[in-house]
Amino acid sequence: MNKNSSNIMALAPNTSNKRETVCIFGTGDFGRALGQKMIQSGYPVVFGSRSPQTSNLIPKEAEVLSHTEAAQKAAIIIIAIQRQHYDFLTPLAEILRGKVLVDVSNNLKINQYPESNAEYLAQLVPGAKAVKAFNTVSAWALQSGTLDASRQVFVCGDDMEAKQMVMDIVRALGLTPLDQGSLLAAQEIENYPLQLFPMWKFPIFLSLGLTAFFFFYCLIRDVIYSYVYENKDYSFFIAISIPNRICPVVALILLALVYLPGVLAAIIQLYRGTKYSRFPDWLDKWMLCRKQLGLVALAFAFLHVFYTLIIPIRYYVRWRTEDGIISKALSNKTDPFNNTNGWLSDSYLALGILGFFFFVLLGITSLPSVSNSVNWREFRFVQSKLGYLTLILCTAHTLVYGGNRFLSPSSYRWYLPNAYMLSLIIPCIVLILKFVLIFPCLDRQLTQIRQGWERNPQY
Ligand code: NAP
Repeated sequence: MNKNSSNIMALAPNTSNKRETVCIFGTGDFGRALGQKMIQSGYPVVFGSRSPQTSNLIPKEAEVLSHTEAAQKAAIIIIAIQRQHYDFLTPLAEILRGKVLVDVSNNLKINQYPESNAEYLAQLVPGAKAVKAFNTVSAWALQSGTLDASRQVFVCGDDMEAKQMVMDIVRALGLTPLDQGSLLAAQEIENYPLQLFPMWKFPIFLSLGLTAFFFFYCLIRDVIYSYVYENKDYSFFIAISIPNRICPVVALILLALVYLPGVLAAIIQLYRGTKYSRFPDWLDKWMLCRKQLGLVALAFAFLHVFYTLIIPIRYYVRWRTEDGIISKALSNKTDPFNNTNGWLSDSYLALGILGFFFFVLLGITSLPSVSNSVNWREFRFVQSKLGYLTLILCTAHTLVYGGNRFLSPSSYRWYLPNAYMLSLIIPCIVLILKFVLIFPCLDRQLTQIRQGWERNPQY
């Protein structure tokens, strides 16, 4: 068969059920796994290899030939070889003319080379049509069939027809092709599998930083202070008491930090009088990871609930209760029932329960399967209105917990207030700013700006 005729055949619409032969260069892990999957999906597969003899590892339905022979048998050639070995393709340039070359390669580092591997391939074999695909699917997932996490295959390329042919193969393998545009997108597609939870970095580092800060803060206030001034060893507080102080404090601060960027963005828009100017980068990035911040906050809230539930079975708590009862019995004295304390204690618990309930509801609505089932307006309503309600309830829970202790000098050790008092600063700022922003004169202006009205077009 003449080498050009095979390309014309493959580029023509596939009218029969018979699949076109696909050639795979490289009999390594990925080449074999992809070849096996293609054979299962009905594609005849031919491997191009430096050592063209079959082995037990290669699917027995596939042929293994030299690169030149294999390339002549198919219009689509998948290059399952590391980029640093691509130079072997240069002498094959004539045979590869007009063929679709699929670059599946990944790098070890983000932006490792000045150009993407797919662009490099296109430069090495200028007569071929380079398409980037399959790099986000692992050999292991292809072999084991556990493709749930990586069913999406990003595809990009300059030749529409070639891209379409590759997307047809992706679909035939039971995967979902996502057209990312021209070959220029290849760099981003290659960087994608190298990213490690990009949206989670800021929330996780922030929560770790806050946890470390409040741990040492509580250690100084609750353990070291008592040791120095009262000669009491409360070091066992490190196991439960201190974590149960840190968790609600971090949860509340993180929850407030979910809503702070929205408030700041509104202030910036009001100040600039337009929505058509970019926010500072840090604010953009902060806004993008609000969901992750909220989920980390929810995890801390869950821990707080678990720690609180085990309070009654703690030795220290049981000892204190029994000691209190015995001291009162010995001194023949009882405290009169204090109605205010009754109200404070019940309201604090009720606010905590409701706050946690709405917090969980918020977390559930951020799950993709749930958020996909509501429309944009419903999603915004839940995330904004329900979110603020949660923030109000959790802030009120902390305020009522403080009760009348805020002004009591015994709450301050070495002039340091209780950790929960510090945790109220950001939530209160967010709630006050939000309260100001919903004043009709500001709210009306903000709504107009968000609808495209400009007060200061020069921004
Ligand atoms: P591999 O197991 O090391 O296989 C690479 C193959 O390249 C070898 O088996 C060899 O095939 C061929 N080769 C090696 N040196 C060569 C040279 N100097 N000249 C020509 N051919 C050479 O690697 P792999 O894991 O299959 O990965 C292959 C490509 O797929 C890489 O670009 C990788 O980034 C990409 N990828 C891999 C995965 C994965 O899960 N493994 C996932 C996505 C993308 P022959 O001996 O038959 O010539």
